[in-house]
Amino acid sequence: MKRYIPTMYRKSIFDISYSKLKKRGIKCLIFDLDNTLALIDEKKCPEKTKQLCERLKKEFQVVIISNNTKKRLLPYLEELQVDGVSMAMKPGIRGLKKIQKKYRLHKEEMVMIGDQLMTDIVSGNRFQIMTILVDPLGKKDLKITGINRFFENRVLKKLSQLKILERGTYYE
Ligand SMILES: [Mg+2]
Repeated sequence: MKRYIPTMYRKSIFDISYSKLKKRGIKCLIFDLDNTLALIDEKKCPEKTKQLCERLKKEFQVVIISNNTKKRLLPYLEELQVDGVSMAMKPGIRGLKKIQKKYRLHKEEMVMIGDQLMTDIVSGNRFQIMTILVDPLGKKDLKITGINRFFENRVLKKLSQLKILERGTYYE
C-alpha cells in the first residue's frame, strides 16, 4: 500500500503551498499534464496555469512529465517555456531519472505532482521523492486513464478503510 500514499494531498495545483516546499528544500517541481495542469481536451495552456507557472519559474525548476505524446505536450512546453518529457511511461521512473541527471538534483530536491495514484504517485514513490496528489481538474479522462481509475478506486477504497487517504480530505 505504501507506494500509493502521497506525501501531500491538495485540491489542485493552485492550493499547494509552494513556499512550504521551498522551505523543505525542494528545487524542482515536476508536474503531470493531463487533468493536473489542464483539462485533457485543452489544446492551449489555461491562463491561470500560465500565471502560476510564471511565478513558480522564478523560484523553481519546473518540468512536465507526461505519458501523453510529444504532439500533446509540445504546445505546453512552448507556451510555458519549460522542459518536459513525453511518453514517460509512468509509473516507470525513466522520466524522473532523466530530470534528476540533467539538472543534477538530489532526490530530496524533487517533487512529483499529479492527479493519478497509479501513475504519478507510484512513479514518484518508487523513485523515492516527495509526491503530491491533486484532484483531477475535469471529469473526463483519457481512455487509458479509465483503466487506471478502475484500479485507483479500489486502492482508494482500501486507503479510506485504513483511514490513510480519503477523497476530499486534504493534508500536507
Ligand atoms: Mg494526469
